[in-house]
Amino acid sequence: MKAPVPPARGSTVRGALEEALASAPEGGLTAKDLSTLVGISEKDVADHLTHLERSLKAQGLRLEVLPASCIRCGFTFKERKRLTRPGACPECRSTRIDPPAFRVSS
Ligand SMILES: [Zn+2]
Repeated sequence: MKAPVPPARGSTVRGALEEALASAPEGGLTAKDLSTLVGISEKDVADHLTHLERSLKAQGLRLEVLPASCIRCGFTFKERKRLTRPGACPECRSTRIDPPAFRVSS
């Protein structure tokens, strides 16, 4: 009896992510949106996006990050380089953060 074949990871997942991002709405897709669409965890989305950013660059495309912002005071996390959602606002300490969203642009 053959062992079940595990779902393909790596390039296939990344391809699915790339496809989802290429057809993302104007406001982009969050890590949560992408995790639902592609069927991987939010943490894995962040890991894949890091690599995807490089492969997009090679194709002359850009992974656009729409920065996270604080729902309470409107602070924008512009300087933030990490792709994950920030824990709290440095201005008002609120933890109600609108997460960063992503899309592909040329
Ligand atoms: Zn704030």
